[in-house]
Amino acid sequence: AKKTLIIGGVAGGATTATRLRRRDDAMEIIMFERGDYISYANCGLPYYIGGVIESRDALLVQKPEVMKNRFNIDVRVSSEVTKIIPNEKKIEVKNRKTGEIYEETYDNLILATGSSPIKPPIPGIDSGNIFTLWTVPDTDRIKAYLTEKKPKRAAVIGGGFIGLEMAENLHEEGVDVSVIEMQNQVMAPVDLEMANLVQENMIMNGVNLILGDGVKEFHHKGEIIQIELTSGNVVETDMVILSIGVRPNSELAKQAGIALNKKGGVLVDDYLQTSIPNIYAVGDVIEVTHYITKDKTMIPLAGPANKQARILADNIVGDKKTYNGTLGTAVAKVFDLNVASTGLNEKQLKAMGKVKNQDYFVALINQKSHAGYYPGATPLTLKMLFDKAGKIFGGQIVGQDGVDKRIDTLATTMRLDGTVYDLQALELAYAPPFSSAKDPVNMLGYVAENILRGQISFIEWDELDALLADASKKNKYTILDVTEEMERMVFAIPDSVHIPSGEIHQRWKELDPNKMVILYCTIGVRSYNAARVLLQKGFKNIAVLSCGSGFYKSM
Ligand code: FAD
Repeated sequence: AKKTLIIGGVAGGATTATRLRRRDDAMEIIMFERGDYISYANCGLPYYIGGVIESRDALLVQKPEVMKNRFNIDVRVSSEVTKIIPNEKKIEVKNRKTGEIYEETYDNLILATGSSPIKPPIPGIDSGNIFTLWTVPDTDRIKAYLTEKKPKRAAVIGGGFIGLEMAENLHEEGVDVSVIEMQNQVMAPVDLEMANLVQENMIMNGVNLILGDGVKEFHHKGEIIQIELTSGNVVETDMVILSIGVRPNSELAKQAGIALNKKGGVLVDDYLQTSIPNIYAVGDVIEVTHYITKDKTMIPLAGPANKQARILADNIVGDKKTYNGTLGTAVAKVFDLNVASTGLNEKQLKAMGKVKNQDYFVALINQKSHAGYYPGATPLTLKMLFDKAGKIFGGQIVGQDGVDKRIDTLATTMRLDGTVYDLQALELAYAPPFSSAKDPVNMLGYVAENILRGQISFIEWDELDALLADASKKNKYTILDVTEEMERMVFAIPDSVHIPSGEIHQRWKELDPNKMVILYCTIGVRSYNAARVLLQKGFKNIAVLSCGSGFYKSM
């Protein structure tokens, strides 16, 4: 029987091991994990810290004894693989408990070593109350610190999904939280205006959000940490959570001469084999193909790791399955909102040199999570990017309910190479508590078609700002507010003309058809309807403010 060694015993490693066993009962399978735990729920760790998941045991999905009894897999915890010797097809293992070093031979070797949090060489970073969150021991340390020291303040460095999940969970624990993010927005996978919705909600929940500022130095005054920022500002705190990104655990692969990319990601072919025969790799440690761009990239997520693991196990027993790339579909709960994304965002498209309304188009709409007349409907903001032919580049959604199912519908359509026209045709489950007869995803398809056929055009918040700031264009456009008088008293764009949407059929002649007319209401629906009236009256140059003034004024 063949012998397969697996390095890493969590998402990718444990999944490969059990699938291999299901496919080949005779194979000898040994899984090495340098930590004390295998197959634990990394993604659940923040929720255990916040007390949402109460039992620590619930995080430990699979135990070594069970893997042995149920799957006949030889699991060796506290066992660090320290060397790969490819030409002798063997590895060197160090038992971290006893210090013993031994060798093990293989027919197939699988790297599932994952990634680790980045810890840059910032002065003062190596101290007891500066934490990273990645493993069960990390979690225990943070939990113990919270219980024993009862810190009043915490600072999270990095506004990615793990940082924000931690911010929420620390807040749940009654800690005053600051989030410090070097970029001008949190949640890099979504665009600025979508992130802004999340940011507003964080601020509403009392988070001290600091954007566009990095950490220069940590000064320790006893138990208190003074975080000196590059701006010169100082944030004082009792503990720090560092979550500024991850790097692949590929030192072993490098030492073995396996080809890596510039970021240290292990290169694999479509069958997940590395540059050395009989050595394979899955999970956070590998470079993947982006499903949309077909470019090589790193996308460390649990879903792809699990999918790759199954494909690899099948290939090791003789199949020829390929891993066809990662979309980067992700979702996170941040305080009262959920934020999700799939594929490319607009920042990425711009960075690729693509031009709006030429290479790509934007549909940015506001919808309700289910029929408005059924209690409990909440707003959803959806953004989709697509090309002239209707191919979808990516989507982003922020809201309370139904964010996950809409992003999954988009991701599914994209994975099946569907277009915006396919979104229109999707027949999705509907009853008032769940959706509307036209689901928000169907609506994205309809709006996209309207845009592509020139039946409507939108102006985004930043484009409107640029226009308002340009004195030379002042006489070239009219800003038309189609809200009601009461709404106008709350907010109006300066110098806008007011015709409530209900009067547009009678009063459209008051507008100059030679000027561009930019229409807005509060969320973008009435202004769209009014725009359709003007277009049919012969107005040629019309734009609707995407998602209306509610969205615009928050930017
Ligand atoms: P891991 O699951 O990290 O496993 C790698 C293992 O290899 C580690 O246990 C490590 O100790 C071991 N190892 C490394 N080197 C050696 C060696 N030399 N010898 C022996 N063992 C070694 N993803 C999502 O998609 N959704 C989420 O909501 C989400 N939330 C997350 C929240 C947190 C707090 C964290 C930490 C991660 C989260 N992730 C999430 C990411 C997800 O957990 C990873 O993408 C996934 O676990 C990657 O699987 P992997 O097998 O490549 O690596």
